[in-house]
Amino acid sequence: MRVASNKVQDLISFYQNELKEVYAPGEINFIVQQSFKHFVNFNSTDLIIKKNDNLNQSDLLHLYDCCKALKEHKPLQYILGETVFYGLTFKVDASVLIPRPETEELVELILKDTQRVDRLSILDIGTGSGCIPVSLKKNKPEWEVSAIDISKNALDVAKQNAELNNCSVNFFLKSILSEREYAELGNFDIIVSNPPYIARQEEAQMHERVKNYEPHIALFVEDSDALLFYRNIIDFCKTHLNINGQLYFELNPIYANAIKTLAEGSEQFKEVSLLKDLSGNIRFLKAIK
Ligand code: GLN
Repeated sequence: MRVASNKVQDLISFYQNELKEVYAPGEINFIVQQSFKHFVNFNSTDLIIKKNDNLNQSDLLHLYDCCKALKEHKPLQYILGETVFYGLTFKVDASVLIPRPETEELVELILKDTQRVDRLSILDIGTGSGCIPVSLKKNKPEWEVSAIDISKNALDVAKQNAELNNCSVNFFLKSILSEREYAELGNFDIIVSNPPYIARQEEAQMHERVKNYEPHIALFVEDSDALLFYRNIIDFCKTHLNINGQLYFELNPIYANAIKTLAEGSEQFKEVSLLKDLSGNIRFLKAIK
């Protein structure tokens, strides 16, 4: 891997050339823009009008290392250490899942459903980067927002994200699989979760970017008990979700009907529905107690 010179244009050509087997041309453009923005503070106009400028040695090295890591399939968000979710900046590292656009839709769904409700309490289960509670709290400062995760490292990142976005969220290190641990959590008007939902049998078809870099604890469930988290959260709702409260899940389309059956079978909800994401896949469940 060699860069022809320190010129901005040569760096751009270097990215295009090195990454052509890993990313589509449109994705490379996006990556170039994000990387130059992050390391050199260039916007997209700078990329054009300063294309013959020379980069200093340190900027050149950062951009070079970034390209090398991208070629090894490391996700851009982990290289830059941040991403944007629901219009807010979130810090991410290898201990948390990179927040996905589907999860932005989940946040949007909750905010839309609750337009007229001022004060309510909400719990996010398996919060990872904290993207769900932080973006909710940012948009609804009057809500009492709490979140749990089993990973201390993830929770540290989530706390930093709440601070970064200037909002206060109650974080607890707890497992939703342990009644003893979660028993003393209070009651909530809304419970939301995007738990691990990829079956091990799907691992082979997954992109290296995901399976080699994102935390497996956040991604996978064992094929033998793929509904483990959903079942436990539905059980948790029996004692910790208020009457008229709502449960929201993000889910894997292949398990959508099974999860709906589980929710209905728990005989606590007066309404259970499945909803599609923008790509047309069944992606969310909403249940009203
Ligand atoms: N709640 C976080 C998110 O939606 C983490 C989800 C997870 O790790 N399964 O991105």
